Amino acid sequence: MSESVISSSASPTPAPGSLGWNLEHSYARLPGMLYEHLDPTPVKEPRMVVFNYELAKRLGLNGSALARQPEVFAGNVLPDGAKPLAQAYAGHQYGNFTGLGDGRAILLGEQVTPNGERWDVQLKGSGPTPFSRRGDGRAALGPMLREFIVSEAMEALGIPTTRSLAVVTTGEPVYRQGVQPGAVLTRIAASHIRVGTFEWAAAHGDHAALRALVDYTLRRHYPDQAAAEVPALALLRAVMERQARLIAQWQCVGFVHGVMNTDNMALSGETIDYGPCAFMDAFDPATVFSSIDRHGRYAYGNQPQIAQWNLARLAEALLPLLHAEEKQAIELANAEIERFKALFEERWLAGIRAKLGLFTAEEGDRALAEGLLLWMREKKADFTNTFRELSKDGKTLLYDEAAFKDWHVQWQRRLGQQPQSAEEVQARMRANNPAVIPRNHKVEEALAAAAERNDLGVMQRLLEVLARPYDPSGEIPAEYTTPSGAQPGEYQTFCGT
Ligand code: AMP
Ligand code: MG
Repeated sequence: MSESVISSSASPTPAPGSLGWNLEHSYARLPGMLYEHLDPTPVKEPRMVVFNYELAKRLGLNGSALARQPEVFAGNVLPDGAKPLAQAYAGHQYGNFTGLGDGRAILLGEQVTPNGERWDVQLKGSGPTPFSRRGDGRAALGPMLREFIVSEAMEALGIPTTRSLAVVTTGEPVYRQGVQPGAVLTRIAASHIRVGTFEWAAAHGDHAALRALVDYTLRRHYPDQAAAEVPALALLRAVMERQARLIAQWQCVGFVHGVMNTDNMALSGETIDYGPCAFMDAFDPATVFSSIDRHGRYAYGNQPQIAQWNLARLAEALLPLLHAEEKQAIELANAEIERFKALFEERWLAGIRAKLGLFTAEEGDRALAEGLLLWMREKKADFTNTFRELSKDGKTLLYDEAAFKDWHVQWQRRLGQQPQSAEEVQARMRANNPAVIPRNHKVEEALAAAAERNDLGVMQRLLEVLARPYDPSGEIPAEYTTPSGAQPGEYQTFCGT
């Protein structure tokens, strides 16, 4: 691979000329109750750990020059035209309402690319803000690298997500469970407007701010709805559709977000805030990764319901703009939110049909899919590998599993009812069933190598493999595709490769 997504020791040749910054500040024209202007707090010794050249290029930035300027990504030196601010927002965390805001993040501005795209450039871990509450405003290297790896993997999987431009270490310790190296992540997002941003304006009873935020969000993310008769209703509908699509995509690759608080749901429809997230190995709807999620509120199987719950909080915040009469506003909101289940189902069915190689829609498709999932759950079959195995031509051990055969016969019968050839079916399945996902133990291994041994090679190899999940350039080494918990025999029994 000639152009690596990370910079280790070898730096590319610097390009002459401008760094490419073209920062605008449309968010800072919104009412002042939505943010606080302040600079990042400089750190002791910025050092570049990872730099995303491909993303820099897409942003119109001079990657080869910027990769040599860790001070910019640490907040010690501001890019040309930056007007830093911390965004205010509230949120329901595990169901409880709280005032939050960027407690450790600062928006430098919106980079407008040569082809007119607008991207937030945010430093995460950049020091205390008026919203820090009791936090230190800082981030540890491990979690920032984890966000880098998983967000870039999501992008490669074709799932809307915020992205990661760089991670630098600060030369300062942070105190979490023990002492860890401090780090700052540069996050790139379509915007950082959250459900919680609307909750903040609504909780302050500031209808003018709420109205401005609705108009702004429509113009920025749903321009075709900007002239809608009831803008707040148009926004709610548009966001519901995008969230239904996003959550269906998560479900189809086994992604568990882990902290679906309303402050972690973006109006753009991007996946945002990678904390205790992970991909499921063995299929089980109860899968939970966050150690503090004791009741499984944010378990894999609950994600669609939680999305609906979060959208209901958005609808609630928008009530004063939905209708002058509160009673009618509530009726309108309820009628909209009720539609989410069907919206999600439609998206999920479309996704699962593609995973099964189906081009057409039939009544029994949901039952067919559920039959497979039930079998997978009973056998603790690996979610990713089972689907990828089904995408392959030859007979495998998977097909010899007795309980599986009934389902397989039904599936083959169903495939026979559509006009597409076996080759077309396989191509569709390969394009919709990733061969590789960021397995938790591989991510942990990469983080440990980076944080404990200063070895970035492990992460670099992982990033290279994750960059082509559907159409790998060669055979993927088994270490990247074998689930961690599986005994070698167990893995081969159900998903032998
Ligand atoms: P998160 O769980 O990352 O979505 O964060 C929830 C809230 O806590 C947000 O308002 C963050 O800005 C804030 N927060 C998280 N970690 C810190 C920290 N170390 N210092 C200050 N605020 C933080
Ligand atoms: Mg958050």
